[in-house]
Amino acid sequence: MTYIAGEYDIIVVGAGHAGCESALAGARLGKKTLLVTMNLDSIALMPCNPNIGGTGKGHLVRELDALGGEMGKNIDKSMIQCKMLNTAKGPAVHSLRAQADKLQYQKEMKQTLEKQENLHLKQYEVTELLVENGKATGVVVKTGAVFQAKAVILATGTYLKARIVIGDTSYDGGPNGLFGANELSGSLRELGVRLLRFKTGTPARVDKRSVDFSKMTIQEGDPQIVPFSFETEKIDIDQLPCYLTYTNEKTHQVIRDNLHRSPLFSGDIEGVGPRYCPSIEDKVVRFSDKPKHQIFIEPEGRDTYEMYVQGMSSSLPEEVQLKMLRTVEGMENVEIMRLAYAIEYDNIDPVQLKPSLEFKSVDHLFFAGQINGTSGYEEAAAQGLIAGINAVKKLEGTVPLILDRSQAYIGVLIDDIVTKGTLEPYRMMTSRAEYRLILRQDNADLRLTKIGYDIGLIGEERYQKFQIKERAVQDEIERVKKVMVKPTKELEAFFAGKNSTFSKKGFTLYELLKRPEMGYFELEKFDPDRPKLPINVIEQVEIQIKYEGYIKKQWSQVEQFKKLERRKIPENLDYEKISGLRTEARQKLSKIRPISVGHASRISGVSPADISVLLVHMENFRRREKTDE
Ligand SMILES: Cc1cc2nc3c(=O)[nH]c(=O)nc-3n(C[C@H](O)[C@H](O)[C@H](O)COP(=O)(O)OP(=O)(O)OC[C@H]3O[C@@H](n4cnc5c(N)ncnc54)[C@H](O)[C@@H]3O)c2cc1C
Repeated sequence: MTYIAGEYDIIVVGAGHAGCESALAGARLGKKTLLVTMNLDSIALMPCNPNIGGTGKGHLVRELDALGGEMGKNIDKSMIQCKMLNTAKGPAVHSLRAQADKLQYQKEMKQTLEKQENLHLKQYEVTELLVENGKATGVVVKTGAVFQAKAVILATGTYLKARIVIGDTSYDGGPNGLFGANELSGSLRELGVRLLRFKTGTPARVDKRSVDFSKMTIQEGDPQIVPFSFETEKIDIDQLPCYLTYTNEKTHQVIRDNLHRSPLFSGDIEGVGPRYCPSIEDKVVRFSDKPKHQIFIEPEGRDTYEMYVQGMSSSLPEEVQLKMLRTVEGMENVEIMRLAYAIEYDNIDPVQLKPSLEFKSVDHLFFAGQINGTSGYEEAAAQGLIAGINAVKKLEGTVPLILDRSQAYIGVLIDDIVTKGTLEPYRMMTSRAEYRLILRQDNADLRLTKIGYDIGLIGEERYQKFQIKERAVQDEIERVKKVMVKPTKELEAFFAGKNSTFSKKGFTLYELLKRPEMGYFELEKFDPDRPKLPINVIEQVEIQIKYEGYIKKQWSQVEQFKKLERRKIPENLDYEKISGLRTEARQKLSKIRPISVGHASRISGVSPADISVLLVHMENFRRREKTDE
């Protein structure tokens, strides 16, 4: 007998970083939401690095926050160290990165979920997806109970048919000693979902008491912490340090001597791994000319002796792991608390998804996170939020939220995976964004808060505060354009100290701020009437003035890009009927079903000539329709 255990608007499967954001978005937008996960103690678990953010990833978190997501707030509550990376370079690549207290991060997220109105949490393994008449209608769990829903979001991460590999030992199991989910893949396959098999790996966690930190370089956090969330005003914590050390020739020799025992090289692992997060054995083989590799020792939390050995992800056998670690300076007597391992899992081919993250051939079914072939907590959370918002929009019959490549890194991420697919775990990097001068982490609120507000995830009070900031930036830019700085002796001396060209005709403050060598703060003495402004306003004023030329140029490129994005392709266009398209282009266009001409132009195998044919066809079609009217 079928036992119907509950009815919901939205069911989210998986409480990793993607699932948490999806569930919160669904519930906050008023939908009765069920978050079902295999283990309620592993909500928002970080099975690998104990940190949030980093190059490109920090951008995703700030965008998520501006749209009303939770990750930024959660890391602000649980960080133990924070740094702005790449500050020696331009602001486009500045990225926030914070070390987390892993357990606190989980605890805070679980509490937020539990307190959320409309949100229900249950611990089960989902074994089957229910689909009726091409539409997702619910899930079946291991006990046989059925949960019905109007929309389902799958965010199962690295758990589907997961297999752990350590040297020549391998067994079925999920990350961090948890169970894998062995049945859902079969159900998805039966429904026609195309699955791929990827792998990833993690380093050992070592006992702090067995490490000699005096032989390593200490890595402190920034003296002034910039919060991830635009809503967090200040973070005042005692930061914990990380430590830097290096592998050496002895480490590499241990690895080379044991390569035949590495499942990566013996062929025991079939899944494809992330190129940008290689294991130490991979690094030693691929960069054989490098005499050393950086290793960071990072605390896993405030109340634990476990330390994460960043840079030494491995699937070598247990005794080789220990031997290799003990060759590293400061780790001569190291004790391992958790072994390094590789994990293989099933994920879907993301080209089966629409840009809204809905599955193309099953209505009301969404996928988010690592199941879509990505890697990383931030990438997962970003997709989770979009899938959650779009599940709600689907139920309400409104237009999905699709951020384009000029609006957000989130747009770049989703556009990349659904258009090009991925042959390995996809991770975000600043180099993937062509408009990165305008997609900065510092202006994520200016780009996206209005969207979050219109959707309903940003409250009235926050939105008003944001508008005040927005106006303050504009007012200050206008003001500095008008302020004249007289060519006094003091100014001349100041210029000389900066090696800057002086002129007797005087300057506007704006002209001075354009010079790379002049900063807003140091010009205070020449600008006695300046208003007292918050640091985040001053930062915007400086960046917008200093980089104005480049930013303007990028905006004109965006305008060109938008022209093709605005040329929408009818959903039911039959590419078979377009003469002049090459066979490869016809096949790819039919498979991806791009939403716009711009989208079509990014599909590999679709040439500029194919796009011209498509444009001519669409124009003829439009004319014919007009004549028929
Ligand atoms: C060993 C390892 C190493 C990694 N290394 C890195 C790295 O170096 N860099 C990096 O950026 N990322 C790394 N990652 C990836 C990172 O952990 C993930 O990208 C991120 O956690 C994905 O988030 P997610 O929400 O998609 O899935 P997950 O965090 O994996 O969460 C999935 C959730 O789904 C639940 N679930 C799964 N199946 C079912 C089911 N059938 N029924 C009910 N619940 C289910 C699980 O219980 C879990 O709560 C690594 C992951 C692992 C496991």
